Amino acid sequence: MSDAAAPQLAENQAGEAGAETFNFNADIKQLMGLIINSFYSNKEIFLRELISNASDALDKIRYKSISEPEESGIDVEPNFVIKIIPDKSNNTLTLIDTGIGMTRIELINNLGTIARSGTRNFIEALSAGTDISMIGQFGVGFYSAYLVAEKVVVYSKNVKDEQYVWESSAGGFFNIKKDDDPNSEKLARGTKIVLHLKSDNQEFLEEKRLKDLIKKHSEFISFPIELYVEKTTEKEVSDDEEEKKEEKKDEEKKEEEKKDDLEVKDEKEEKKDKKKKKVKEVTHEFEQVNKNKPIWMRKADDITKEEYTAFYKSISNDWEDYLAVKLFSVEGQLDFKSIIFIPKRAPLDLFDQRKKKSNIKLYVKRVFIMDECEELIPEYLSFVRGIVDSEDLPLNISREHLQQNKIMNVIKKNLEKKCLELIKEISENSEDWKKFYEQFSKNLKLGIHEDAKNRDKLAEFLRYYTSNSGEEQVSLKEYVKNMKEEQKDIYYITGDSKEAVATSPFVEGIKKKGYEILYMVDPIDEYVVQQMKEYDGKKLKNITKEGLDLNDSEEEKKKKEELKVAYEKLTKHFKDVLGDKIEKCVLGHRYNESPAVLVTSEWGWSATMEKIMKAQALRDASSSYSMAGKKTMEINPNHPIVIELKKRVDTDANDKTTKDLIWLLYEIALLSSGFNLDEPTTFAGRIHRMIKFALAIGEDERQPEEPLPEASAEKKDNTDNRMEHID
Ligand code: ADP
Repeated sequence: MSDAAAPQLAENQAGEAGAETFNFNADIKQLMGLIINSFYSNKEIFLRELISNASDALDKIRYKSISEPEESGIDVEPNFVIKIIPDKSNNTLTLIDTGIGMTRIELINNLGTIARSGTRNFIEALSAGTDISMIGQFGVGFYSAYLVAEKVVVYSKNVKDEQYVWESSAGGFFNIKKDDDPNSEKLARGTKIVLHLKSDNQEFLEEKRLKDLIKKHSEFISFPIELYVEKTTEKEVSDDEEEKKEEKKDEEKKEEEKKDDLEVKDEKEEKKDKKKKKVKEVTHEFEQVNKNKPIWMRKADDITKEEYTAFYKSISNDWEDYLAVKLFSVEGQLDFKSIIFIPKRAPLDLFDQRKKKSNIKLYVKRVFIMDECEELIPEYLSFVRGIVDSEDLPLNISREHLQQNKIMNVIKKNLEKKCLELIKEISENSEDWKKFYEQFSKNLKLGIHEDAKNRDKLAEFLRYYTSNSGEEQVSLKEYVKNMKEEQKDIYYITGDSKEAVATSPFVEGIKKKGYEILYMVDPIDEYVVQQMKEYDGKKLKNITKEGLDLNDSEEEKKKKEELKVAYEKLTKHFKDVLGDKIEKCVLGHRYNESPAVLVTSEWGWSATMEKIMKAQALRDASSSYSMAGKKTMEINPNHPIVIELKKRVDTDANDKTTKDLIWLLYEIALLSSGFNLDEPTTFAGRIHRMIKFALAIGEDERQPEEPLPEASAEKKDNTDNRMEHID
């Protein structure tokens, strides 16, 4: 009912004496409904979720016991442990942890009134077919308890408050009250969760099932998990009553038996054995189920693939296996151990501003210090998951200190190096590499943009389609290997898609010369080439920019010079007509089919960059795209249209139709060169006039209500132009 952060009492304040009743947040209510009514068979995951919560609560208190011991209640409860107690007679399964516990208000907020964004996301993901077992990733793992329980009771004791009891059988509300029941167990610190199991979930009271589950899902929890187990011992006991009776009989018999000594002896032996009875004795005790030492403390060779997978899943909540793993230790000036994993898939929020900036957990001497430690890994590697366990950092290190900590910097450098090694290893297997590159190429490119020191290493990982590569992508190394002997530079074009750049007028002429062109069609490529000006000593040249040196022969140069003089009047006329729209007009020789293109200056934004910046300016009014450089118009002196225009301008420079055609050529060049039209309506007007001309419709036949295309300042004098002027 309430979405507000402040808890709201439910209207129906029924419930037990002293208990307050709260409505669940609407999203949580819906989620619980889905969980309770699901026919999901893999219900066992609830145990993993609750153990994981207990482990988090223990991590928090262990850290607090070091950083603020007086606030931690460590004196009253020095143990860090998780206990699991199945109780068949009451049909309950109980989990107890000596973690941080929850105050009254935390119980209300955390278990019911505050829905995090994950709640809605998870509901949506479920309806899209996502598996319930992914619940932990969405931060609502607690509610998985309702997969197996019809009622859940949570007792919790935080050092700052008294013990409170939360209770809910779902139905949209929960009760909360101070635990003043003299019969209830009082916790020194921590949380006790009692699950009243649904009748068809008795299997979760079976010792073997529970042991298997803990081993399967929670083996790498770094706190002892103790299961309350039944121990049956067989004892040889003698029943006193029996014994006395037997003794009496024996006495009576003795007289008779004297006759045959040997026989009696034998019988006596037998009797003696009979007197001792075997009795089964049932006792209960806690048995630790997870006994492994942390995986990163073991030798890499001793760890099986299954163990790596289990550990990866335990730290990542990923439902899939990892793609690559590396376990390593650094010793010498400083000591640390680490295990890093590369997932198969990028997280959904990879480039979300609020996403996790790191997926590395920091431990100091086996003690968990913090999750998502940004200080340990550069942002572009935020998808790498793992842990670092340092021997040198102080246990009570705080976030603020981490930032300037020299040890952290050294660890970060080493970690980055190892990540790049691991990526290199993946690149040696083409199938794995394909998967990796599809998911994480943007991260590598971000790395090139951000990380100057490793730029060269990262450049080796780039792959692009090219004008020759067909369906395969090639590395820059391969590109260089395939370069023509006289080719000095690496050519590339940026654009929206492979198809769009392949048909761009810029590509045709260069392809004719036999040079290969890299197709950079990811917006982030623009940022890559801003930073990466060279590869292997060769300059990267955008073919949509001015000043492209295509290794012309002396003869070609001479010819170009002659044409330049011959076309001087025309190029000047283009500039006069188009005014501010272009920087200048020159002859272009790099294409055959197109009459004209627009190029940008070598240092200005390319057409693609201009689009990106415009899109950003729309999103963020503060950034302007005024930096968009002026464009140079290149006209093709071999194209029939240009040749014809030259003739016309040579005879009558003031011909209005020629001016209109120049505008049209400019606008078409904008489009074919990858820019957007500034004034699409004006362009449409020009095209309509051409269509009318082609259909031989006179201007007089225009419908009176049909508005003339809006004219801009430059076009005012052109508005009267009629295509009919062309004879
Ligand atoms: P998540 O654990 O992913 O945040 P949950 O729905 O599992 O989401 O739990 C919600 C919150 O309830 C936790 O963030 C934590 O603050 C609190 N919580 C759950 N279980 C415990 C526990 N055993 N001890 C202390 N706090 C807990």
